Amino acid sequence: MGIATVNPATGETIKIFEPLTPEEIELKLALADTTFKQYRKISLEQRSQWLNAAADILERDQQKLGEIMTLEMGKPIKSAIAEAKKCALVCRYYADNAADFLKDVEAQTDASRSFIRYQPLGIILAVMPWNFPLWQVFRFAAPGLMAGNVGILKHASNVPQCALAVEAILKEAGFPAGCFQTLLIGASQVESIINDPRVKAATLTGSEPAGASLASAAGKQIKKTVLELGGSDPFIVLESADIEAAATTAVTARMLNNGQSCIAAKRFILVESIADKFEALLLEKFKALKVGDPMNEETDIGPLANASMLLELNQQVQETLAKGGKIVLGGEVIRDCPGYFYPPTILTDIPVDSPGYHDEFFGPVALLFRVKDMDEAIELANDTIFGLGASAWTNDPTEQDRLIEEIEAGCVFINGMVKSDPRLPFGGIKRSGYGRELSIEGMQEFLNVKTVWIK
Ligand code: NAP
Repeated sequence: MGIATVNPATGETIKIFEPLTPEEIELKLALADTTFKQYRKISLEQRSQWLNAAADILERDQQKLGEIMTLEMGKPIKSAIAEAKKCALVCRYYADNAADFLKDVEAQTDASRSFIRYQPLGIILAVMPWNFPLWQVFRFAAPGLMAGNVGILKHASNVPQCALAVEAILKEAGFPAGCFQTLLIGASQVESIINDPRVKAATLTGSEPAGASLASAAGKQIKKTVLELGGSDPFIVLESADIEAAATTAVTARMLNNGQSCIAAKRFILVESIADKFEALLLEKFKALKVGDPMNEETDIGPLANASMLLELNQQVQETLAKGGKIVLGGEVIRDCPGYFYPPTILTDIPVDSPGYHDEFFGPVALLFRVKDMDEAIELANDTIFGLGASAWTNDPTEQDRLIEEIEAGCVFINGMVKSDPRLPFGGIKRSGYGRELSIEGMQEFLNVKTVWIK
């Protein structure tokens, strides 16, 4: 389809965008380059004022921005509005904390004075996914702009209006035009941009193939990358847990964003003694969810973002069933309406050789596994190529310690769902990627850590 707004709730093409020509891309890179040379000298106070102004705009326009997100990728309007507000939060967080994060750090050595100075690198390319179309971009842009870098965005091809909205917000907030530019381009145009000597580094959030492709190209140019890729996060429930609270949270953890979140709980690992109770509660709560028009405030689950996501998810479910998996709920594409709808689904008895065991399921499908004890739970949780997040439920402090220590993931949340927070680093290990976003670590990814030594 190219770059276009297609309403996933109806399948209707709303607007098609022409990708930029090589000449147009050149103009934008040249502008970013000249802007960086000036912008890096702008005071932190000024940058912070502009970023706070961006936060004000995000809050002011939350309804309008929410509607654009919902129109383009189908998330329920209430979560779209919440996303706009969360973007304001990350702007304010970096506006308030950047001065502290960027200050010189003294070191005692044989010098009369030695210290570390943090400096911007220049133009950073962000390749972003459609699932959190504003949040993913602002969590890159806010620390980057505060640090004195300038950004260029290649957003997913199905969210062009979101991509243009981000550029407009930052411009209205006062940032000079070249500080942040949206490039409406296809994936095939990314490599020539990373090859351009004016572009210093790149960050990508998306699938493994996209990450591998960008990182290979960047590697050839000796340029740094941060990759935030897929996940198949475990949600472990042990005997001492509050099962009702775990099941309630499990619904949000699996279904947020119509199930299309990298950090969604995807594999529910239950010890035998509580498994029946948890499964019954989950079933009851999934059945109560309202699937429908994502623009309706009452809707819990909208459509998947596009036709290929629907096709892939359904294929994964059918293959898992063909190998011997069982359906507790759902498991069939909703065909009596236009749009890309999939119902809340629960699968159990998932065979080791099926997609349900190994793949990331990007939609409203919960995969339930039963284990004998905590040893088996940890072993199963780690038996994945991914290592993004993990949620584990137990009120036993010894069990909590073991889970924190032994789970292979970028984060572990005990008795709560995995979520991103500007104050905490976010990222994965294994094939979920490398590097971190958010907090001070996220800002430091794209800085020159300059060592200064004075005799
Ligand atoms: P995707 O196909 O990889 O797309 C992500 C971005 O990469 C889009 O802008 C896409 O552009 C671009 N892209 C695709 N192939 C590329 C290539 N060969 N070279 C350069 N750029 C390329 O991912 P998706 O299916 O839209 O998103 C879902 C995935 O993202 C899931 O695996 C999910 O877990 C992951 N995700 C991870 C995080 C995290 O923080 N770890 C957060 C959200 C999502 P086009 O749209 O033009 O193809």
